[in-house]
Amino acid sequence: MIAEIIAVGSEMLTPHRQDTNSLFLTAGLNDLGVEVGFKTIVGDNPHRLVEAIHNALRRADILILSGGLGPTEDDLTRECVAEALDLNLLTDAAAVLALQARFKARRMEMPSNNLKQAQVIDGAELLPNPNGSAPGQWLETVIRTAAGHTHRRLIILLPGPPKELKAIYAEEVRPRLAEVLPPHFLARRVLRMALIPESTVDARTAPIYRRFADVETTILAGHGEIQLHFLCAKDTQEEAEDRVDQVAELVEREMGDDIFSSDGESLEEIVLLMLGLRGLKLAVAESCTGGLLAERITAIPNASRNFLGGAIVYSNELKIGFCKVPAKLLSQHGAVSPEVARSLAEGIRERTKASLGLSITGIAGPAIPDGPDSDKPVGLVYIGLADEEDTQVKRFMIPGDRDRVRLWATQYALEMLRHTLQ
Ligand code: ATP
Ligand code: MG
Repeated sequence: MIAEIIAVGSEMLTPHRQDTNSLFLTAGLNDLGVEVGFKTIVGDNPHRLVEAIHNALRRADILILSGGLGPTEDDLTRECVAEALDLNLLTDAAAVLALQARFKARRMEMPSNNLKQAQVIDGAELLPNPNGSAPGQWLETVIRTAAGHTHRRLIILLPGPPKELKAIYAEEVRPRLAEVLPPHFLARRVLRMALIPESTVDARTAPIYRRFADVETTILAGHGEIQLHFLCAKDTQEEAEDRVDQVAELVEREMGDDIFSSDGESLEEIVLLMLGLRGLKLAVAESCTGGLLAERITAIPNASRNFLGGAIVYSNELKIGFCKVPAKLLSQHGAVSPEVARSLAEGIRERTKASLGLSITGIAGPAIPDGPDSDKPVGLVYIGLADEEDTQVKRFMIPGDRDRVRLWATQYALEMLRHTLQ
């Protein structure tokens, strides 16, 4: 089964608005085992819309249209679908009453052009809209090609506002699709790794996942992380789960400790979980990341159990004043140095009575000639981790712009913590 989604609306052909409805619909269709073969965006132009509908009817079994069901002149989807299929538009009496009731409940006069929204393509069923005035439509029909072949087609019309589209999809479309589509069970696994090149992950894991032709494998890279997604569809849930378990287990054996989570959890979630298991409290001292590390940690609900907090010690004054970094260290080695990273980690740990102190100091860039750190390269980062026994300090060179250096610095810090806790 192949589906096509047509998003109708000229605004989505400008740089100002994006078609997000098709992403939502694609996720929903994939869950039901339907592959989206094509997505089309077309402006509010009847000729082009009819052309797009003809194309879709030729090449897809299921066509979902989003948008253009409003009451105004430029809302043309109903008319264009009817034209493409050579079907009439009929006025649905119950839909007229529903529209009138909707306006009456709001003590508003119904403009006559709203009657358009009670028009239904001959043979279609209306799908009630709990969040708006335009109902959707569901039409099962048969088309005949020029060569005389016939094909069954399912055509679904949904309003453009995402809140309306999502509600109708959940309440009306999904249950109907589940009924008409063959039964189908999906299993998914996501393995996540930090700070390894995508090519390395692929070189090591492709020989494994290629042997599982019935498991769809996707590698996603970005933000200092690699994700391996495994997806398998079978006749029973158990069979599907078995297959993704098998491939995931082999890949886990190959990548070992590099995998920080095998159930989709984020790196910060895993670190908090590990701190929790050991009953440890963490505090952070951040310079070049300006609170980004704390922000990532505190984005996880219940972080307060194992995260005390920390300090943004951006200036030398605060490094000295808050984390008790000796002024001499700063003048001798500079703020971006292993000595200062060590002192910050130990300082924040002592100051907060945490079990672990984690520090980040680095040069996020861009390079400033004659600046205080102009003798050091952009991307140089030191991370310190102090516990009650000792303090480790690591040096990293992170390529890229300011945003990237800052994000990757937090990624390295979390990874260092994870490896230590392991
Ligand atoms: P309305 O009754 O609001 O006119 P409609 O079905 O005619 O509904 P459109 O006019 O096409 O829908 O779009 C209404 C609004 O919904 C747009 O301004 C846009 O913000 C949003 N929208 C439309 N299509 C999409 C889409 N594919 N993805 C995300 N948002 C969309
Ligand atoms: Mg509209």
